[in-house]
Order: sequence, then C-alpha cells, then structure tokens
Amino acid sequence: MTEAEWADMERLLPTPCYVVDEALIEENLKILKGVMDRTGARILLAQKAFSMYALYPLIGEYLCGATASGLYEARLCAEEMAKPLRTRGRKVENHIFSPAYKEAEFREILRCCDHIVFNSWKQAERFGPEAKAAGKSMGLRINPERSTQEGHAIYDPCAPGSRLGVTLEAFEAGLHRGSLQLLDGLHFHTLCEQDADALEATLEAVEEKFGRYLPGMRWINFGGGHHITRPGYDIPRLERCIGRMQDRYGLTVYLEPGEAVALNAGFLIAEVLETLRNGMDIAILDTSAACHMPDVLEMPYRPPLRGSGQPGEKACTYRLGGPTCLAGDIIGDYSFDRPLKEGDRLVFQDMAIYSMVKNNTFNGMPLPAIALRRKNGECDIVKEFGYRDFRERLS
Ligand SMILES: *Cc1c(COP(=O)(O)O)cnc(C)c1O
Repeated sequence: MTEAEWADMERLLPTPCYVVDEALIEENLKILKGVMDRTGARILLAQKAFSMYALYPLIGEYLCGATASGLYEARLCAEEMAKPLRTRGRKVENHIFSPAYKEAEFREILRCCDHIVFNSWKQAERFGPEAKAAGKSMGLRINPERSTQEGHAIYDPCAPGSRLGVTLEAFEAGLHRGSLQLLDGLHFHTLCEQDADALEATLEAVEEKFGRYLPGMRWINFGGGHHITRPGYDIPRLERCIGRMQDRYGLTVYLEPGEAVALNAGFLIAEVLETLRNGMDIAILDTSAACHMPDVLEMPYRPPLRGSGQPGEKACTYRLGGPTCLAGDIIGDYSFDRPLKEGDRLVFQDMAIYSMVKNNTFNGMPLPAIALRRKNGECDIVKEFGYRDFRERLS
C-alpha cells in the first residue's frame, strides 16, 4: 500500500474500525493452497480465529472447508461457505470438534457437519452411533502428551491435567470390542504459533504412542497452530511430515490452521482522544485492549503499530490505553517521531485474527466497524455496530 493509500484509509474510515485486506488474505490462501497442491493434504479454516464470513466464499475457493468449535460456527460455515459455493458446484467440508456436545444441539450439528471429532470415548459412544447412522466421518482427539511450547501455558493442551484429548492410557482403557470401529480418524491439536519442527516432535510422540492404531484409520488431523504463512516458516519440513503420515499409514492428512489463514492481513484503526502526563506521556484512544484486542491482555502481547518504534527508539514515547475504567487496559508503550495529538489516527497491525471473534462491549464500549479492503484498493464498510448491539446482549 502506498503512503497516499494509507492516508486515505486512515482518513475515510470511522474509528475504531477493523480493516481486513482481501489481497493479503488471498496471499495467505495461495501459500496454503500450494501445500495442498504439492502434498494432497486437506486444509480447513479454523473459524475460531477468523470468522469474517464476507470472505468465506473466497476462502472456500482455496481451502477444503472449515472447522468449528461448536454449533454456531458449524452453522456459519454451512450458511456462508458451503451454501454459496454449492451453487458454484464446489463442495466444502464442514468439521467440528467440541470438548463435550450437548444433546439438544447434536441433531443440528449432524445436519451441518461432515466430520465430527469427539474428546472422549464416552462422548464417542454416546453420540457416535447416531453420527455413524447419519453417514458422518468420526474421529477422536488424542493427547500425545508432548508439550512443545514454553511461555503460553494457557495454549498448551498437553499440560498435566489437560481436559483436551485422550491420553494413550485413557485410549487403551476405553478400548473394547467395537470401539475402534467407531473411528475413521484421529485428531490432535497441540501447537500455537509454531514452526514445523514442533509438528515433527509432536508426530514422533503420536507415532510412538498411537502408531499401532494408525493403519486402521482413514485420516489424521494435525489441528492448528501451524504458522505456515509467517515468513521463514519451514514449509518443506511441514510437507515431509504430511508425506510421512500418508506414505507410512495411507492416511488423508487434514490441517486446520486459524491464524495462518489471516495472519498479518488486517488492521485496527483507532483515534487519539486525549493525551496526558503522569511521569510519562500517555494517550487515550477510542479503542480498548480489553474490548477490541483481548489477546493483548490475555496472551499477552504487544501488537505492531504502523510507523511506531519501541519505547525510547523515536523522539516521543507514549503509553497507549483504552477509554475504559480498567487500569490495566493498556495496549503498550510505543514511540513516535512527533508528539501525538487529539484526532491522530493509529493503525494497529495483524488485527484480523483473534480480534473481532473475541471482542466485547465491557464498559459499554462500542464495537469497531468491520471494513474490507478490496483487491482494487477500495474499502467497503461491511458492518457497523451501535447502541442496539450493546443493548441486545443484555436484559
Ligand atoms: C485453536 C484451534 C485451531 C486453530 O489454531 P490456530 O492457532 O489459530 O491455528 C485448530 N483446531 C483446534 C482444535 C483448535 O482448538
């Protein structure tokens, strides 16, 4: 994008506003499609990271479908990806994994989904027969108990006491006549923003523990957390991992990245409302870490901000915070070439993923608008929110 295009975008859009760049999404999709074309693996969008359904028809053109964490995401895939693409003669797959399904929702889940992954033998045995009778492909999530990440403990499903996935011990304890016949595949999800070396280590544990059950399966799902579209990600190593499971066990390999689909493909534009000093320069913005980018506090991380530097790197350093009453509603400390003033616009980067899917109206904060920057450079505001959206969630 040229400086003039940035300036236009900042000037013309309301704030706060998420802007997703269609061309950048498509670049990511092309990288993922390359992996599929070279290996025969099937890649799905994990909707929990990015559910901007205005782009589902585009995403469904490149990927094999989507995966859901529950009924609502499954329905969104059915309505916004599967249905429009069906009219163009393309069938997309709708997968679901949930730690526990609700009886009252299961019938509708069966209507939406093709693949259903269970988190325990008990769930598989309770809901499996109905799923089988409906012709669904069924899987069990396993826990290979090989942690490959440090730092983000809340994203480690291999940690002791994890409720996610069946350990080898529980897998074998649950085996009895007929139980393996329920399964078409195994699913694991243990990575978070990781490279293919972590996948390789995980696969070693999967083979070591569950290897004897793999030849009886049709597919294996490597879950998400693969940072495939990050510059420098080791794609050849990923492809060797995929090839190994295909060649050794004759399995269809699924991957379900969320982040990688929309990584670095969106922005959050905000406005400076006020500046003040308390031992340091502070700016209050019309966007909030707590409401509009909760992973900044939850993960936590410091989002990149266009044109800024590390604290002290440029002439003027500010602590940027939201307009809520939460003392810790701090986005981070950033430096700028010039002092900030009321009305200045700031552009946070990498704001497509885990942003609009997680936002909230705490403190009565307005939700950011959602805009789409088309390939021709034009920005369409696809959704704006108002007082009603705040009110409708309360009673
Ligand atoms: C979170 C999650 C994903 C997507 O993870 P990313 O880190 O966004 O790639 C995929 N599958 C499952 C089961 C998940 O919980």
